[in-house]
Formats: sequence, C-alpha cells, structure tokens
Amino acid sequence: MSRAHALLSASSAHRWMACPPSAKLEAKLPDTTSEAAAEGTLAHKVCELKLQNYFDTTNMSKRKMNARIKKLKEDPLWQEEIIGHADTYLDCIKGLAISFDSAPSVLIEEKVDFSKWVHGGFGTADCLMFHGDTLHVIDFKYGKGVPVSAEKNPQLMLYALGAAQEYSMIYSMDRIHLVIVQPRISAEVSEWTITLDELLQFGETAREKAMLALSGSGEFNPGEAQCRFCRARATCRARADKNVKLAFATEKKPDQLTPEEIGEYLQQGEDVARWLSDLKEYALKESLLGHEITGYKAVEGRGSRAWTDMDKAFDILIESGTPEEMLYERKPLTLAQVEKLVGKKDFAAAVGDLVEKKPGKPTLVPKSDKREAITNIVSAEEAFGDTEN
Ligand code: SF4
Repeated sequence: MSRAHALLSASSAHRWMACPPSAKLEAKLPDTTSEAAAEGTLAHKVCELKLQNYFDTTNMSKRKMNARIKKLKEDPLWQEEIIGHADTYLDCIKGLAISFDSAPSVLIEEKVDFSKWVHGGFGTADCLMFHGDTLHVIDFKYGKGVPVSAEKNPQLMLYALGAAQEYSMIYSMDRIHLVIVQPRISAEVSEWTITLDELLQFGETAREKAMLALSGSGEFNPGEAQCRFCRARATCRARADKNVKLAFATEKKPDQLTPEEIGEYLQQGEDVARWLSDLKEYALKESLLGHEITGYKAVEGRGSRAWTDMDKAFDILIESGTPEEMLYERKPLTLAQVEKLVGKKDFAAAVGDLVEKKPGKPTLVPKSDKREAITNIVSAEEAFGDTEN
C-alpha cells in the first residue's frame, strides 16, 4: 500500500477510474518522462512566479520574479513563448479575482491531500481561490496536443475534494468551479461548476475505483481517452483485442452504410489508427534494441541532403554566375509568427484592425464539440433574396 500514490495519481485518475487494472499494469513499465513534460514543468514555474508576484508582491517583488525567470531561461528547454502563455494564465486568474466584490483568498501551488477517497492520494493544485460560497480550482496545462476539458475532470475534482476537506472549517464551499487554462490550444478557458454534493458523490465513485485499482481487480476497459497516454498502450492485450476486433469486424455487411452506422464506425474506429501507430512505435523501439518482432525489422529511413558549408557553397555558385537573389527567397512571417514576435497586446494595438478572421476548412468533429454545426445548404432567403420586395 505504500506505493499507492505512485499507482494512483490525480493526473492519471481519468485512466485508473475508467480502467482500474491499468494502474498496476502501468507500474510494471518504465516511466519515460518526455521533453514535453519537462517544458510543462518550466512553464508551471513561470506561472507560479507570476501569481506570487501579483498576489504577494511583498514576498515576490517584480525584481525577484524577473531574476528567477532569468535563471529558468538558462534551461536548454526554455521557450520564449512560455512568458506569453503564463501571462494568459495570470490574466485569467486576475480576471476572476477582480470579478468579485471583495478580495478572494488565494493559494498558489497548494499541496492537497485526497487520501480520504484515494489511498495515499495527494497532489499539487496550481491555484485555489475561495470566495463567497465557491471554491475555484484553476489548472494550467502547457500541452498543445490534446485539449483537456474541465467538465467532469477527475484530476481537478480530486484536488477539489482535498481542498474542500482541508478548508471546510474556514471557507464555505457549496459550489465548486473548475477551470482549465490551456493557452497553446485555445485562448478560451474550459470551465465547469458543480455542487459540493455532486463533488462528494464523485468522491465515492473515485473511492470504489481506487480500491479496484489498488487490488488489481476490475475490468480492463480500452477507450480512446484512457489508452492514449497509458504506458501499456502498445502492449496491452485488452486494447489490442478491442482494436483488432473493430478493425476486422465482419458481422455487419450492408451494401451501403446507414448514417447511424457511419457515425458508429467513426466513433469506434477513432482508437484503431492510434493503436496501430502506438504499436509501430513500440515495435521500432524494440527492433532498435535488437529484440525480435516477428516479420519486422528496423532499417534506415530515407535520408536527406544538407550543406556541410552553405556559405561556401553559395559563394562558389555566385562566383560562377548564379545571381545571388536567385539563391534566396524573401518570405513574410505568418500572422501568428508576427504576433508572437511583437507580443499579443502590441500586435492588437498596432495592426489588430488589419486582421480578418477567415472561416476554417470544414472539419468533422464529434457532436460534443462546442462549435456550431455548419452546412452547405443554401437557404431560400440566400437563393432568392428578400421575397417581399
Ligand atoms: S492500454 Fe487502455 S485498456 Fe490497456 S491498461 Fe491502458 S488504459 Fe487500460
């Protein structure tokens, strides 16, 4: 039981709650911390410093904050865009704090203990805010691959449980407001509000799932969300069985698929392609380690050519008659690159009115997506104009 925390973290709760045996299976596999995770840690540190400076200037002066950020910039993984994203996070929290009629109580990078529900469970909440009858749990996500929704988010709900338990004697908390700021994916935050009773109900479900996960019982339950970053995603038999079954499903053989079947296949097939790519990635890694994967081997991919000394090559070409201007192309930066270069605020002030928003290419998304549905159907009004005139 002493490894309970390692087994059942809040950030992997979406997985062990959906697929309880995943916890023990993952524990057998190496945890390969990615570069993206290390970048996320850097970005979180900047966010923390900015919040401390805003809410507690006495202890974190601007000078002190800048000195700390300067130090963080020495990290080889530093990216200048971190500053802009941390500002977006700060703006969101500032906006929330000043929307109240009195100052809220704010806790930054607060350790929360939710072991009452999940054995050994604790984590660190990016920002907790108490005001009126509401506990606000605000989380910063630096990832840019998968949007994370605040709705029914088990990580934030576990943090909320821990915070509600710890501070219930000091603050009243009838409502729980969960917020996720993920600026590399969207300028809009994801928010969700529940009552304390609903949160406590979730706590009971989490407790049941945690017990299953800790005892290694419960059913494997492959699914797109829980399998995506599971350490066992390439070698898990349950996921393989499900995807093979889906990929080679033969029971239905209609001449033409119905719209219901198309929707069903699209939904069921979401994970098949991802699973195959996970399997290929794993097989390549194994082959490179010299391990046999039946019927496959690793080879050198198609190479590419590169100058060993481009300046020298260009000098030779120019000397031998190639006009210099033909060797270079002058290209403007993209709008997004220019905005990044000058900063969001200055960009908006200087050239914001020269930017128009063009509609994107039609994209197929699940019904749950918040964007409004579009069609190409021409309405009678568009086709015939105003019929009254
Ligand atoms: S790959 Fe999916 S089904 Fe298998 S253990 Fe992980 S989450 Fe569960």
